[in-house]
Amino acid sequence: MNRTIIKAPSVNMEKLENLFIEMTAQNCNLRCKHCYIDFKDKKVKDFIPIDKVKQALMNVNKKDLQYIHLTGAEPMLHPDFNHILRLCLKYSSVVIHTNALNINDKKARFLRKVEEENNMNHEIVFMISIDHYIEKENDSLRGRGSYRKAVHALQSLIKYEFNPILSIVNYFNIPIDELKSNFKELCDSINFETTDLNFKIIPYLDKNKMMDMPENIDYTNLKTECKKGRTLTINGVFTCPLLCCDNRGKCGSDLTDYSSKSYLETEFCSQCINHNNFLFSLEL
Ligand code: SF4
Repeated sequence: MNRTIIKAPSVNMEKLENLFIEMTAQNCNLRCKHCYIDFKDKKVKDFIPIDKVKQALMNVNKKDLQYIHLTGAEPMLHPDFNHILRLCLKYSSVVIHTNALNINDKKARFLRKVEEENNMNHEIVFMISIDHYIEKENDSLRGRGSYRKAVHALQSLIKYEFNPILSIVNYFNIPIDELKSNFKELCDSINFETTDLNFKIIPYLDKNKMMDMPENIDYTNLKTECKKGRTLTINGVFTCPLLCCDNRGKCGSDLTDYSSKSYLETEFCSQCINHNNFLFSLEL
């Protein structure tokens, strides 16, 4: 008898510290060359309903929750973005993973007000995608004009006293020290005082490439999103944001019934484990 034997290693999620909410799977105002999302239809209306978010927030253990992450495609395109942000701030601090095209002075001022309105002292953290310190190189990946808009968004956020994090996909495989020092120079030029914590360097993960798992890895101490979080989407709960387009990443239908065990069998998992550092979460 032929039986499929699952040989992939597995990990158990310990606590739901990071709740990722995929606000939309397909709506984005950019089409970056290296994006892990397979875009199909430009006009698809796949925004997560606000009631689904409300229900999920009622089901999570608030005590364990450290951050709610609003992700996408582009989360700020959700028509109820402000409403969902306010709702999430009642539960924890919120990280917005954005290409920043929708952030200008007016929006930054508004978001500062939203943060101050919440009486729980929860903060809004911005993870701004920008992948190269040279405009031409960045725009060759992310599209014409994206560098200027991201830099302008950084200026607006600093003006309203946010402390954004630059989320940098190291597509060109530049040595980390060189990458950080050049980005630091860029930040200095706009009077943005940074430390190492302002730079989140992410390796480029190729959705078609399978890597060998590293030997002697300690699966109990992995630094991967599936150890500490789950992702809520319109189609159910997934182990991490990278796997929302892949049924192998599905682990439940809602936040009352998901599995805490994930089998690390995908191409993304093999690369993610080799990297062994959180791709989306903040270091606590
Ligand atoms: S891609 Fe990484 S975080 Fe996602 S399930 Fe695989 S190992 Fe875990």
